[in-house]
Amino acid sequence: MEIYDGIIVGAGTSGSYLGRRLAEKGFKILIIDKLPKEEIGNKYDIVHIQKRDFDRFKLPEPEEGDDYAFEFSATAAYSAFGNHPKRGSNPTVGLRLHRYTLRLNRWAEAAGAEIKYGAAFKDFIFEDGMIKGIIYSEAGEERKAYGKIVADCSGIPSVARRRLPEGYGVENFEIGPDEMFYVILRYVRYLDEKDYLNGSRSWVYYKTWEAPQLDSKGAILGIGANLGYEHAERIFKEFTKRIALPRHELERVEKGRTPYRRPPYSFVADNFLVTGDAACLTKPHAGEGITSSMVQIDIAVKCITKLLKSNKPLSKENLWPINKEYVVVQGRAYAAMLATLIGAVSTSPEENEFFFEHDVIFNAKSFAAMAEDKELRYSLPEMLRMASVLIRGVLRGKVRFKTLRSLIRAMKNGSRISKHYGKYPCEQERFPAWARKSDRLWERAGSMAAALKEMTK
Ligand SMILES: Cc1cc2nc3c(=O)[nH]c(=O)nc-3n(C[C@H](O)[C@H](O)[C@H](O)COP(=O)(O)OP(=O)(O)OC[C@H]3O[C@@H](n4cnc5c(N)ncnc54)[C@H](O)[C@@H]3O)c2cc1C
Repeated sequence: MEIYDGIIVGAGTSGSYLGRRLAEKGFKILIIDKLPKEEIGNKYDIVHIQKRDFDRFKLPEPEEGDDYAFEFSATAAYSAFGNHPKRGSNPTVGLRLHRYTLRLNRWAEAAGAEIKYGAAFKDFIFEDGMIKGIIYSEAGEERKAYGKIVADCSGIPSVARRRLPEGYGVENFEIGPDEMFYVILRYVRYLDEKDYLNGSRSWVYYKTWEAPQLDSKGAILGIGANLGYEHAERIFKEFTKRIALPRHELERVEKGRTPYRRPPYSFVADNFLVTGDAACLTKPHAGEGITSSMVQIDIAVKCITKLLKSNKPLSKENLWPINKEYVVVQGRAYAAMLATLIGAVSTSPEENEFFFEHDVIFNAKSFAAMAEDKELRYSLPEMLRMASVLIRGVLRGKVRFKTLRSLIRAMKNGSRISKHYGKYPCEQERFPAWARKSDRLWERAGSMAAALKEMTK
């Protein structure tokens, strides 16, 4: 019989990181992935990780000629017509995802975790109504593995979370087509030396960006959209009509999806944890999810370690502190950001230009908060200045009243959700009432896809 302390479904960045952290505490860990080793993490080529996160999460460094691609610091965000840049500095490392995921796999194995490639999760083993392990298939055979905890790190398909019976403790929703961010990356080669990159530029109005790639004469021209790839292509066309890009040749195109919805209200149930994309832990302002998931994983590892070392059951009740601490450390800020962004989309390019020009909404402070993953909070004098600029904008016909109303609503939604997440219950008894109120608040905030559909009617 295969018996482990922990079983992890998925050997992507989240599964490898969780596996490493638990294995180095001395626990017996199995990680399974349905893919063969050659295909692990090959969903697209280049990812960005902020340089400070290597220290924060004590991650292995990438190596030149293997998984390391480039570094940059300078950032600049431009208005819809390409003006009024808000400049910043955010030291960032570019990595090759497939190779770096394999590095993380080896790093987990070096601490003692066992990885099985080509091994696909099929179902849970339940005993006395509680998860006791998993059934998985490997080389055409069905196998069983028993563990004190099963962690779902299977990404968007959320294969284990979605198999949970209704009412087991973690929501088993599917991350639907309207709940994702569709990213298209164009790898291009610039034709004029003067255009070679030493930083990145973005145009928030179109959700487009230009960033370095492996070839120092090239760039990645990226776009993300909530209504699908076709919608992203349409916006990209609009973008290239208004913004003059450097002369370039297209080398190749990559596409991928990342979750864009609120995470489940609870990440834990009896002998169960969900993390990574399967738990929708992506940054609401960027769609990135590698290190934002590690924030929750560190919290989970601390709690699981304590329970395993003291031979206590990994019950929902005992794992509950993971939920509370995550909300305090990151979840509250992300929830507020998500709710605010949903309501703040309905602006015209001219209004976006006005905001950039007058340093409201899109100002250095908001971009710095996003870069640092912090909730944006304005002081009273800052709020008053913004309000007076916006009112002047309405009076001069530069900002529609409808836009002002929707911005105020967005900020209210963000602040209500922030306050409510601030009251995340420490005890499970108060959780059902908290979740019911959350449902009402999220319903009021709506979804990004619904807001965009309304706008494009
Ligand atoms: C184009 C694009 C660019 C991005 N850029 C960045 C970036 O620059 N920085 C950043 O932080 N994030 C970025 N992201 C987001 C980031 O890729 C994800 O948040 C991250 O990869 C999620 O990791 P994960 O381990 O949770 O899930 P995944 O990487 O999806 O890994 C899940 C693993 O589970 C396995 N699996 C699935 N089903 C089963 C099963 N039945 N049995 C066993 N195994 C299974 C899969 O094979 C896979 O290996 C980007 C996303 C896209 C689409």
